[in-house]
Order: sequence, then structure tokens, then C-alpha cells
Amino acid sequence: MSNQSFAPASDTSLRRYEHLYIDGEWVKPLDGELIESIDPATGKPWAIAPMGGPQDIDRAVAAARQAFNGPWRRMPGHERAALLRRFADLFSAAIPELAVIESRDNGNLVREHRASLTAQVQWYQWFASLADKAQGTTIPIDDSVHAFTTRVPIGVVGAIIPWNAPLLATCLKIGAALAAGCAVVVKPAEQTPVSALELARLMHEAGIPPGVFNVVPGFGRTAGAHLVKHPDVNKISFTGASQTAKHMVRDGAENLKRFTFELGGKAPHIIFADADLDNAINAATASAWRLTGQSCALGSRVLVERPIYDRVVDAFRTRAKSVRVGLPSVDTNHMGPQAHEEQLRKTLSYIEFGKQDGAELITGGSRVLTPALAPGYFVEPTVFAGVTNRMRIARDEIFGPVASLIPFDGEDEAVAIANDTPYGLTAGLWTRDVGRAHRVSNRIEAGMVWVNTYSFLRWSTPYGGFKVSGWGRENGIHALDPYLETRTTVISTSGQFPNLYT
Ligand code: ADP
Repeated sequence: MSNQSFAPASDTSLRRYEHLYIDGEWVKPLDGELIESIDPATGKPWAIAPMGGPQDIDRAVAAARQAFNGPWRRMPGHERAALLRRFADLFSAAIPELAVIESRDNGNLVREHRASLTAQVQWYQWFASLADKAQGTTIPIDDSVHAFTTRVPIGVVGAIIPWNAPLLATCLKIGAALAAGCAVVVKPAEQTPVSALELARLMHEAGIPPGVFNVVPGFGRTAGAHLVKHPDVNKISFTGASQTAKHMVRDGAENLKRFTFELGGKAPHIIFADADLDNAINAATASAWRLTGQSCALGSRVLVERPIYDRVVDAFRTRAKSVRVGLPSVDTNHMGPQAHEEQLRKTLSYIEFGKQDGAELITGGSRVLTPALAPGYFVEPTVFAGVTNRMRIARDEIFGPVASLIPFDGEDEAVAIANDTPYGLTAGLWTRDVGRAHRVSNRIEAGMVWVNTYSFLRWSTPYGGFKVSGWGRENGIHALDPYLETRTTVISTSGQFPNLYT
């Protein structure tokens, strides 16, 4: 059982988390501190959370190493799978509470968190089902040798988590890493430290052995960087900003650490004139504003073929008026606040850049300052028309509810604009022409292309980026690969070895 001490769960009292989870125990930070975690819907603290420092990371890595070298790496895959399934059941039962906690930390709608958490149960089940399938191969050579490969867990994994979808990002990493037989140290983002501690409570209850799963919330530049530099960490799995990943590669160079990166995006959402326009508008407006724009996969650049450009601009203007911005706890609302104050400022500054660079602000563009919402970090759904791909709003990842509508003429120009970005995570395209669907999707430089749909993501679909959007893939039948090394063993059937020096 957890020894976390909770204040009464009313909106006016702070929920207290004072302990890190290391080696199966709840411990106070050695060289960290306690901080207030801010609810972005109110701008006020809702929880006290511990931030670990480098010494805490050292303790967690040592515990993970010991656990990895203990029974965990040798535990049969089906037994690890059973533990993960037990965890998935506990996780499933905790969804209502986890959805509220996650929403208090990052501001996304409770309703959307519930849906995501329900899918995450399937994700954990998927990883569990892969735990006993890390098969090697037999390599046919000749009678003199028997050669085969064995897949072995990579060791201690650091999972560094962003604030925009903390539990989902954690699920994708720890589900695969634990199924593979690795031990993990999770470092959630400083803005959203709480939900990973709740996961630790459930891991403990599920019977995951001490040291196999550790949680040390902390700041990126101290705890995070220390985890990346740590010589006893074999691999870092990171979701976050591309710029941060570049630091990590430098920090991990000393022991040639392995990395899996799921990074930023500036997805093109291409609408051809022959598209089913009603559905295309539904998808393009949803992907512009869902999650308050705070997902690297969303279609922030809407590329529209010129004959239908004005109609699409009008449709965006009209649809923006029906977006209900409000408290994330109210299920009928469509859009919550930005996750933290710095993100609010970033979004508002990009809206200014859009105006300065000559884009036409069609609707929105301001912080929401109604009495009920003014203390929170709410922004109106925003639409810019007349955008060119050179403008800052089209080049940089904003992470706010800002749609940039860019006109184009024909397939070649659509592809050229779509690929004219350092990013390559996701893309969408709408057309009724099946030949065009194949031609264009085949030319898009992105790890995921959606045709006549958007944001479709499953545990079984490999996910990750081209270019600066990432390294490696999460999910899919090969989801455990990033957490496994391949050992090739060659055994001579004769044991004869000639003397070369006669
Ligand atoms: P954002 O800029 O959107 O906050 P980041 O990529 O900076 O995204 O943060 C995502 C995660 O990376 C957080 O857990 C953060 O603490 C961590 N982080 C940030 N900088 C570093 C760093 N230099 N080394 C390790 N982790 C870091």
C-alpha cells in the first residue's frame, strides 16, 4: 500500500504527494524539493508534488539495475505478462480517478482522458501479449555450426515523459519496456508530476517486484539530464520537444546510449477539391483544436486546394463559433485550457507572429477573459487564412489551438508544401480519387499518413517520425524491439579450431 498522505479530496484543499517511488518504497527526495502543481483551469495549485534531484535518480537507477540483474530479466515472459495484465485490471478500475487527476495536472478534458485511459488498458494488454513472443531465429549455415539469435532485454531504461499526454506517453514506454524484461525509471514532466506516482501505486499493488518500476518526478535540466547522462542507464525513451532530444543525444554520447524519440510535428492536413468536404472539415477542425492543440500529431497546417479555399475558410470561421471552451471537468465542453502559463504565453505570442507576418486572423486570437475562465489559461480557437509556409505560424510547433490555412494548386504543390518542414510525424489527406490517395500518401515524408480520416491510432499501428520528429517506432507487433538487444550465438558441432601459426 502507498504511504502517500492525501489531503481531503475537495477542490479547495491541496492533495499532497511528498514521496518518490524507488525500489518498491515511498521515499522522500534526498536532494530535491516539494513544489505546487498548478491546475491550468484555475491557475491555482491543486497538489503538492515532490521533485527528485540527481541523488534520487542515482538511487532509482541503482534499484533498477539490481532488480534487472535479479529475477526480473530471467522471469519467463508469460509471468511478466500475467503481472502486466494484473496491472491493466487495476489501471482499468482506477480510470475515473486517474482521468480527474490527469486533467487537474494538464487541463485536458476529463472526458477525453477517460477515453484515452480506456484505450490504454488495451495498450497494456497488447504489450502483455507480446511479452512471451520475443523470439530469435535459427540461421541455416552447415553441419559444422549451429547459429541462432536470442532477444535479450536491453537493461535499465529511463522513460522521460512530456506534460501534454503524460499517462499515454508513459504507457507506450513502460508497457513495452516491462514486457521486454527491462527495469524502468520514469521521470514525468515537472508540470504534470502526479499521475506517474498514481501509476506506481498500482504497479505496487499489482506485485511488480521492487526496483523494476521507479518514479522520480523532477526538473528536466537536473533530474532529467542526470538520467540521460547516467552511465548505468542503457536506454532513454523520450517523448517531447525535438530541441530537447538534441541535448539528450549529446548528454548520452559518453556511453553511446540507445534512444527512442517521439518528438514534435507540424502536420499537414491536405484537403483536395474532390474531397468529401463535410467530413474533411469535421476532421480538419477537430485536429486543429482537439486537446487545445497540444499534441504533436494534430493537423496545425491545413493545406486547401484553391477552388475550395474560401469555402473551407468560411467553414472554419463558422465551426470555431460552436467550440465550447470551458472547464475540463464539464463533459459537454469541447476545449480546456493550455496546460501551463508558459504554453499560454507561447500560443499568444505566435498569434502575434501570425499577424506580424501578414496572415489574416479570421476568428479567435485572444485569451478567454470571461469571469469564470479568466484565472485559467484558456485561449479561443483561432484561425489564420492567407498563410504561407514561410510564416512562423506555419514553420514552428505552436502547441495551441491555432489553425493555419494555406492554399495550394495541384498535387505537386501540396506535396512540396507538406514536406517543406523539418518535421515528419503525421499527415492527413482528403480526396475521393483512390489513385491520388496512393500517389500523394506515398510522397509524404511522415511516419503516419491518414487518408480520409485523422488521428486514428491503435496499439497495433507503428508510430513515430521521419526527420526531426523522432527515432524508432512505438506500438505495433515490433513494439518490444527498441527494448531488446539481439545476441547471435554460434556453436561449433566439432569443437575443432586449427592452429594458424604452424
Ligand atoms: P516542452 O518544451 O514542451 O516542455 P520538453 O521536451 O522540454 O518539452 O519536456 C519534456 C520532458 O523532457 C519533461 O519531462 C522535461 O522535464 C524533460 N526534459 C527537458 N529538458 C531536458 C533535458 N535537458 N534532459 C532531460 N530531460 C529533459
